[in-house]
Amino acid sequence: MKISKKLNDAINTQIGEELFASNGYANMAAYFDSIGLVRLSQMYFKQSEEEREHALKFVHFLMEVEGNVAIPAVEAPTSQFASVKAALEAAMTWEKDVTGRINHLMDLAIEEKDYATQDFLRWYVSEQVEEEANVSHLLTLLEALGDRSILNLEAYLPG
Ligand code: MG
Repeated sequence: MKISKKLNDAINTQIGEELFASNGYANMAAYFDSIGLVRLSQMYFKQSEEEREHALKFVHFLMEVEGNVAIPAVEAPTSQFASVKAALEAAMTWEKDVTGRINHLMDLAIEEKDYATQDFLRWYVSEQVEEEANVSHLLTLLEALGDRSILNLEAYLPG
């Protein structure tokens, strides 16, 4: 089964987006560590690894559908965060952006009646529900704790 050039190119672009997120979360993890939030930092280093896995999952899919793997240049993500809240809000913005991009890939696959790619993309659709819910949970927790007890956030992290 051979993927269309249009979808193939769009997936290569998405691989760049996943790697961008991976780098962005590594920056964020380093920031959290620098302000003493060690567990949140670990959580985001893990998230950074997950984003790289998302990228590689696309790479392997392209290999399976006789596609052309061409990883694009990846823009430098922000490394300056004004506060934990600002960092988590940035994470929320990235995840919503990724959700929109995954939906757009799905639109293309539906347009082309490419059922294999639709099936493959469904995993990412569910994954984005989870990603947005996780960040949303952290933002709610942060709101509940307030700025003065930010270190308490560590006590309420999942896992
Ligand atoms: Mg991702």
